[in-house]
Amino acid sequence: MIEKHFGLPAKVENDANAAGLAEALFGAAVGYRHVFYVTVSTGIGTGIIIDRKIYHGKNGVAGEGGHVSIDYKSPYRCGCGSLGCVEALAAGPAMVRRARVRLEQEHTTPSLLREFTFGNLSRLTPKMIQAAARAGDTVAKTIIDDTGFFLGVWLAGMITLLDPEVIVIGGGVAQIGKPLFDKIRETIPRYTINRRFAANTPLLPAKLKKNVGVFGAASLFLPSGEKAESD
Ligand SMILES: [Zn+2]
Repeated sequence: MIEKHFGLPAKVENDANAAGLAEALFGAAVGYRHVFYVTVSTGIGTGIIIDRKIYHGKNGVAGEGGHVSIDYKSPYRCGCGSLGCVEALAAGPAMVRRARVRLEQEHTTPSLLREFTFGNLSRLTPKMIQAAARAGDTVAKTIIDDTGFFLGVWLAGMITLLDPEVIVIGGGVAQIGKPLFDKIRETIPRYTINRRFAANTPLLPAKLKKNVGVFGAASLFLPSGEKAESD
């Protein structure tokens, strides 16, 4: 329908796959062939780039890394229906949910998050958690620390499975930066079989920010992108 309407060729690709390809071709992972791309925002999307090509799997649905469970007994059900998907534990809404649960249960624990939301915790956002942690708030710091731990356990598994040359992490939650990345780095070696290699796998912040999906989609029409889609 799009081709017909615009009179131009059109292609369809998963947004995280396209973003991962963009980071490999023009972003943080330039110079690497095997890339595991992660975006942590309202969900967790991933793209597996092998030999500078998107890995699609048999049915074109490979690379849904955010729906790999790291806690099958988790009280948190994911949007996909499973229990303990890393998305349900570590994406932005999951951070907010964990913070809310804690502050509602411990209603005398002081926290800047109560001030930021004017006492209405339904207003809580990941950005507020980030700001409160920066200002030294203990609850907010714990929430970020736990997020880094969950991502670390999960990425350790991804490293065990894929042995990527580099991991690129983008999305709004990744903008928390150092405290989050430090906790992920600290956790990874404890949950992978290849400790030494895992410890040396670079964990880079994404470079292309907001338009990364658009870059990736556009690149599907470049010779390098055509190649990426060919198999
Ligand atoms: Zn899921």
